[in-house]
Amino acid sequence: MVFDVQAARAEFPILQRQVHGKPLIYLDSAASAQKPRAVIEAMTRAMENSYANVHRGLHTLANETTDAYEAVRRKVADFIGADEKEVVYTKGGTEAVNLVAQGLGMSLSPGDEIVLTEMEHHANIVPWHFLRERKGVVLKFAPVTDEGVLDLEAYQGLLTDRTRVVAVSHMSNVLGTINPVTDITRMAHEAGAVVLIDGCQGIVHKPVDVKAIDADFYVFSGHKLYGPTGIGILYGKAEQLAKLPPYQGGGEMIGTVSIDEISYADPPHRFEAGTPPILEVIGLGAAIDWLAGQDRYAIAHHEAELYRHVRERLNGANWLKVIGDAPDKGAILSFTVEGAHAHDVAQILDRYGVAVRAGTHCAEPLMRRFGVTSSARASFALYNTQEEADAFVDALLKTQAFFA
Ligand code: PMP
Repeated sequence: MVFDVQAARAEFPILQRQVHGKPLIYLDSAASAQKPRAVIEAMTRAMENSYANVHRGLHTLANETTDAYEAVRRKVADFIGADEKEVVYTKGGTEAVNLVAQGLGMSLSPGDEIVLTEMEHHANIVPWHFLRERKGVVLKFAPVTDEGVLDLEAYQGLLTDRTRVVAVSHMSNVLGTINPVTDITRMAHEAGAVVLIDGCQGIVHKPVDVKAIDADFYVFSGHKLYGPTGIGILYGKAEQLAKLPPYQGGGEMIGTVSIDEISYADPPHRFEAGTPPILEVIGLGAAIDWLAGQDRYAIAHHEAELYRHVRERLNGANWLKVIGDAPDKGAILSFTVEGAHAHDVAQILDRYGVAVRAGTHCAEPLMRRFGVTSSARASFALYNTQEEADAFVDALLKTQAFFA
């Protein structure tokens, strides 16, 4: 299982860049990944050759664009093991969670319970808080151990006959922890709850089969999957989408409209009001095609090796606190450096050409759980090399020396 990282790297034009006179070492892919030439070219090609609004024209360009746009739905469906009618385009992972939360929220009553975890991104917390504020539902957060692992027993203990929804991340954007989403889903279903999995990070890490997980909803963003921003996917089981009220109203999501009444289109179009992100959908299709040509298990192995190498080199650094050391985790290193603010660490690393993120990572409950106000985060992607991992560690050692 060998992954040709140099061949893959060559597909990403931005990686040729220099930052402060140093080669760019991009370790912020968990926030947004860089794009291969295939994605850039597919979007440019569409704009240059075949672009119009979808669904509503009888002219050639409108038909070509509609075909290209709907073909991506089939591609996404194949990519995650779904039916194309179960694939809804959104503008990102965040919008997909909001769409589900608002729809399910319509039929929730005061005292109904929603179970989340302490490691959720705000995108999978705030939409449910809206339901606490507006509907009087109760939010419960399953705890995370010191190692950064979800406490499954405690999670099970939170499930009651009032649990209506369980919403859990597949992989934490801070800890890197990969959650046993199939078990989590089974337990939630036994309690009669509907399950949403936030796959924004998880789907990047490993191939996903939504039918094997059996969750009712699975959401992700295009831009972390080497595709463009402005496009997200909501997978919903056909029977769940059929029950879900529409999210936004406008063109394309209706059956008929009259002065007195309206009827809705069938899913997935019922949830896609207005002109959709056409070019972004085409870009996502190109990203999926590109990824399909790679050995994704070899990529996962490559990324795990980078993480292992960095951890090994930093072993024994008593000035370093690593947040999240689960046995099953993706290549994300969240850390604090003694005596230095995470923002300062990130800024100094930037002087060495190393791009990392610093802050709360939109996960304030998790930060509080680990007793920190912020952390720095290096996230590794398929295009990162062992040399880059070493350059990151060298730059981090110099950064620490600066503050010591
Ligand atoms: N969930 C997780 C785990 C994430 O990492 C992110 C992106 N940081 C989101 C949700 C939100 O995705 P987006 O900002 O693309 O809508």
